[in-house]
Amino acid sequence: MGCSSFDNVITNPMSATAQTAPERDPKTRIQPLSAFSDNYIWLISNRETAVVVDPGDAVPVLGALDRLGVRLTAILLTHHHPDHVGGVQQLVDATGARVYGPANEVLPLCDVAMSDGARFSDTGLGIDLTVIDVPGHTAGHIAYAGTVGGSAVVFCGDTLFAAGCGRVFEGTPAQMTASLARLAALPGDALVFCAHEYTLSNMRWAREVEPANQELQGWQAEAIRQRELGDPTVPSRISRELACNPFMRTAIPSVVQSASQWAQRDLDSPVEVFAALREWKNSFR
Ligand code: ZN
Ligand code: FE
Repeated sequence: MGCSSFDNVITNPMSATAQTAPERDPKTRIQPLSAFSDNYIWLISNRETAVVVDPGDAVPVLGALDRLGVRLTAILLTHHHPDHVGGVQQLVDATGARVYGPANEVLPLCDVAMSDGARFSDTGLGIDLTVIDVPGHTAGHIAYAGTVGGSAVVFCGDTLFAAGCGRVFEGTPAQMTASLARLAALPGDALVFCAHEYTLSNMRWAREVEPANQELQGWQAEAIRQRELGDPTVPSRISRELACNPFMRTAIPSVVQSASQWAQRDLDSPVEVFAALREWKNSFR
């Protein structure tokens, strides 16, 4: 459990407890760059080059590139929201990096339009990612799933969060349910690189949905400690989401029962359960 259980491809420059694991000094690292109040921009780098995911702000990225002495070669985008694309133009101007983004969204800049099944690979960084269409939060939202440095990963933007999911702004509950099902089908050990630190508030709500979920209780205690230390609670893992995230558990009887009780009616399908959960979470304070 805890940060140290994650594969050593993950490093956390913000962490007081980060372990450098010198004997396994990974060639490729993935690190979170904090932006705005609660965004994470993910930077994948080795000693020469870097790729960045969802740079809502160029400043922290340029700072990290400078600090690491690496060259930015590519920018991967999951969806069009400003807190994910706001830094793209400035980064391209400064570095000439190539921009990969969702084919079905209007972006400030995009060189390569990516839709379901498209690949992004970088042999130098050990990146091999395939695009999954995950509409719902936005109409054309995509995720990048595959491996980085040998570890299973998914960069899912605002679709899946630790113990939560994105709001359904442009799509439908049915689309979001299908999108989350596609993420649920990824390998259990896949690290979930989501774009916001929403974990503790998601967990407070998830505990209301499933008060008896022991794994969720344990994870919540761990996440509280991480936040007290100023550490990120992410990446999460698909297996943990399956065990703890109500939005990934719309077929689990205890979740169905809780959602039905909240909605005060019978819910007859995972989509109805999802829609009730989403409404519940939207109104939860
Ligand atoms: Zn968003
Ligand atoms: Fe966002």
